Amino acid sequence: MRSEPGDSLTPGAAEPADATDPALETVRPGQPTPGRAARAGPGADEALADPGAVGRRQRHELWMRRALEVAVTGPDDATPDADDVPVGAVLYGPDGAELAIGRNERELTGDPTAHAEVLALRRAAHRLGRWRLDDCTLVVTLEPCTMCAGAIALARVSTVVFGAWEPKTGAVGSLWDVLRDRRVTHRPEVYGGVLEHESAALLRAFFR
Ligand SMILES: [Zn+2]
Repeated sequence: MRSEPGDSLTPGAAEPADATDPALETVRPGQPTPGRAARAGPGADEALADPGAVGRRQRHELWMRRALEVAVTGPDDATPDADDVPVGAVLYGPDGAELAIGRNERELTGDPTAHAEVLALRRAAHRLGRWRLDDCTLVVTLEPCTMCAGAIALARVSTVVFGAWEPKTGAVGSLWDVLRDRRVTHRPEVYGGVLEHESAALLRAFFR
């Protein structure tokens, strides 16, 4: 079995302070982001590398507010179906530019795969003219399911930021951890629980 530089580290020892600070973005106990421990990926020293910029957490929250907006309104060319669970996703390019958005359209289009993440990935790939979305960040209001986690990995997305945890079907830390499984080679950085309360409140309001 191939070993990676971070594999021998004591869990938590190499974690940046914010990865274990419960007041900041949530990384579940016992589930550090291997991508971060195993390599000096994007974001590992962001604050140091770019001291004048808005901090990572603030940027993630800003992006999540946009994803929450998309969850409510959907893309401009489609009126959301009232029966579709309001989940929104936004794909950001390496420079932070918005590449594509998606809202869950399962009911609207009668397509079982029309989840917000898949739609955002498809549209971004179409726009860029390639399937590889390296160095891109997917921001989604709800923890991705197995299908979406698989699609995210296949697209080589570098970073995933999600809002509410989904204990029943979540595949990025809750029920499974598809994106940080050490058996797979492509492991995006994951930040969960970003604006968790706002994201969960939107879903609660829908199901009420
Ligand atoms: Zn999904």
